[in-house]
Amino acid sequence: MNDIACRSGVELLMDYLEGVLPPDMNAALETHVAGCERCTAFVASYRETPNILRRATTVEIPSDIQDALHTFLRTLRR
Ligand SMILES: [Zn+2]
Repeated sequence: MNDIACRSGVELLMDYLEGVLPPDMNAALETHVAGCERCTAFVASYRETPNILRRATTVEIPSDIQDALHTFLRTLRR
């Protein structure tokens, strides 16, 4: 069970990232991810996502910009 294919790996990766895999599966996943560019990128982007969301939601948009944005968005809807 050391050879994990990427395709079946994606679902496993989610479990791996949630930390709900049994230790032997977890170790096998770690080994695969370390040697697999695609899975490394997947893990990296998954881990980065909450940070992106956090940054996005902590930015406060000034009300005049919000008004301008709403006006702009209205012009797009015809
Ligand atoms: Zn992979």
